[in-house]
Amino acid sequence: MHIQRGKLLSELSTFGIGGPARYYIEAKEPNTAREAMQWALSQQIPVFILGKGSNSLFDDRGYDGLILHNKIDFCEIAQDSVYAGAGYSFSLLGVQTARKGFSGLEFASGIPGTVGGAVFMNAGANGQEVKDALLEALYLGLDGEERLFLRSDLEFSYRFSSFQKLRGCILAARFELKENKEARQSQLKIVEYRLKTQPYKEKSAGCIFRNPSPSLSAGALIERCGLKGSVLGGARVSEMHANFIVNEAKASCTDVLALIQKIQETVAEKSGVRLEPEVRKVPFDE
Ligand SMILES: Cc1cc2nc3c(=O)[nH]c(=O)nc-3n(C[C@H](O)[C@H](O)[C@H](O)COP(=O)(O)OP(=O)(O)OC[C@H]3O[C@@H](n4cnc5c(N)ncnc54)[C@H](O)[C@@H]3O)c2cc1C
Repeated sequence: MHIQRGKLLSELSTFGIGGPARYYIEAKEPNTAREAMQWALSQQIPVFILGKGSNSLFDDRGYDGLILHNKIDFCEIAQDSVYAGAGYSFSLLGVQTARKGFSGLEFASGIPGTVGGAVFMNAGANGQEVKDALLEALYLGLDGEERLFLRSDLEFSYRFSSFQKLRGCILAARFELKENKEARQSQLKIVEYRLKTQPYKEKSAGCIFRNPSPSLSAGALIERCGLKGSVLGGARVSEMHANFIVNEAKASCTDVLALIQKIQETVAEKSGVRLEPEVRKVPFDE
């Protein structure tokens, strides 16, 4: 095992925020992930499984444990399903399956996470979520045992999966595909719309808050409070999409948390709605 010390988490998250990891390892194979998790257990240190860090806000002090970077990134497309490693790009999966004329994962294109991160978060867009296409997920428990979960074994809801109650590592997932000549066209439209409406060129973690309900978007509430463009330290509420906080000038985690709090207080005061973060703050020590 090649364990590194002091790897900067700002380099491993789309927000570009975070201090050093006490320990860091890349797992390209399930065995490396297994050995790393068992090593951390023997050292009594916590493990954080990292995908592309596109929904994670790391602490300015870093992480006082082991960052296990999932890089298991194979992809096998068959006639009625695709099987991909948890470290494979979820966006690429959406593009590649649509290009081959398969429907089911068009919504994934443009979501800048991994397959594992998407399953863990039940990522979604355009009225579809991971749960709608997932067939099964291969999982490595803290006890070192692999287990295959079928879709029916798992619970999902808005940005929630059963995996959020567990501490192990998703290794791979299989998704259902259906032949559809229009798939590529719909996927391209999805990307075009994203590029027009979301600040893709800036550093962010996507939507910072969960939508309070299917008919009430956090972005609309924030915009109505006149908070677009609000700045705290190096963090700014995006002018393009009010539910994005962007790191425009070496923002710290403290800046982002302060801006989150300011938004929550203003929105609660003006509309009576308490916004809850979608981004996952990773504590320095657990
Ligand atoms: C520009 C932008 C646009 C976005 N658009 C969307 C969108 O449309 N819809 C949407 O749902 N999200 C969106 N996101 C958020 C983010 O991309 C998704 O939540 C994505 O699924 C996170 O994947 P990740 O690999 O980056 O996860 P990470 O940020 O690396 O991790 C997130 C959580 O998942 C856990 N995790 C990751 N991999 C594994 C694994 N293999 N096993 C167990 N646990 C794991 C981590 O421990 C952590 O708790 C967007 C983000 C950005 C920056």
